[in-house]
Amino acid sequence: AHRISARIGGIAESATLAVDAKAKALKAAGRPVIGFGAGEPDFPTPDYIVEAAVEACRDPRNHRYTPAGGLPELKQAIVDKTRRDSGLEVEPANVLVTNGGKQAIYEAFATLLDPGDEVIVPAPYWTTYPEAIRLAGGVPVEVLADETQDYKVTVEQVEAARTPRTKVFLFNSPSNPTGAVYSREEVEALGRWALEHGLWVLTDEIYEHLVYDGQEAASLPVVVPELLDRCVVVNGVAKTYAMTGWRIGWVVGPKDVVKAATNLQSHATSNVSNVAQRAAVAALNGDLSAVEEMRSAFDRRRRTIVSMLNEIDGVVCPEPQGAFYAYPSVKGLLGREIDGSTPTTSAELAELLLEKAEVAAVPGEAFGSPGYLRFSYALGDDDLAEGIGRLQRLLG
Ligand code: PLP
Repeated sequence: AHRISARIGGIAESATLAVDAKAKALKAAGRPVIGFGAGEPDFPTPDYIVEAAVEACRDPRNHRYTPAGGLPELKQAIVDKTRRDSGLEVEPANVLVTNGGKQAIYEAFATLLDPGDEVIVPAPYWTTYPEAIRLAGGVPVEVLADETQDYKVTVEQVEAARTPRTKVFLFNSPSNPTGAVYSREEVEALGRWALEHGLWVLTDEIYEHLVYDGQEAASLPVVVPELLDRCVVVNGVAKTYAMTGWRIGWVVGPKDVVKAATNLQSHATSNVSNVAQRAAVAALNGDLSAVEEMRSAFDRRRRTIVSMLNEIDGVVCPEPQGAFYAYPSVKGLLGREIDGSTPTTSAELAELLLEKAEVAAVPGEAFGSPGYLRFSYALGDDDLAEGIGRLQRLLG
């Protein structure tokens, strides 16, 4: 027998976290690395949220185990927030509080998939999706949409990928890594297609508030309400409230799915930290003014990074409409000599940029689309301009 099970041994390390760890290690060693790797807002968590956590630490109620599926106050706050932000009516029994959106995604797939069930995954995709699907026994089926179609899949493409084993269609808008935002009409077309073929939809709405140029992030079960009984929504506080390290996410879904996923969580992790849950109650029950301030800073950085990247010969960067990532094609740089080396893949190029310019970006290989780099623009304006300036000098 193998020391490591086949199921776990087959999982790849998270490439985005690996790039971030490497950049942080170089930085700790004194190198002036500028990190575009992590999908992490640079802002501090808003004060009123931190204050709620401080108070929660002193409250003896929070020293104890609470219901595995989440504090009732937080479930209610999620119900209210879902109505306010998406126009979707749900009840606390439709909600499971998880250790971040990541756990929500894993638990949702574990709850829905039997061995061999297929999940249609639009690519470029967030690194974790295929691994979470495989870990749950499922089979990811990738459908690639490149920059010529604004990184958005069409009904024709997903229909071509559908088989009798397809159970779930995975949807993520605004998208990590591309920043693509599907219009209401596009969401409706994909939702109607899923409905027509009896598929489930897992929709990851974690970037819902980060949209630009007057775009809206339409919620799939609101646009196609007939899907409600076969739709699981994933969300969390990480990106909206600069709370990545607090680890609060959630699943909103049909009651039987939520109940089964809660059973799983009750054995895996029990309840999420009460202190973090209390902080999330404050975040969700507060207004969206801090969110709007961060959004407008991201918007400014978005314009800067897109125009600076497009000034580099060989780089083509479409304008992202949401999240905080720019996802340029760097195919024009491959096979070209850069300071003595000739990278032929985006992975090699990313290594080279880290070495020669001390700039960290994640290669498209991590997202199922070689030939691209992902730059998170959730970093300070000065660092952003300095980092892309270094690339312009190295590549210019
Ligand atoms: N979904 C997407 C698309 C993400 O980019 C992330 C974080 O990078 C998550 C979910 C999960 O976030 P968290 O687990 O920090 O709540």
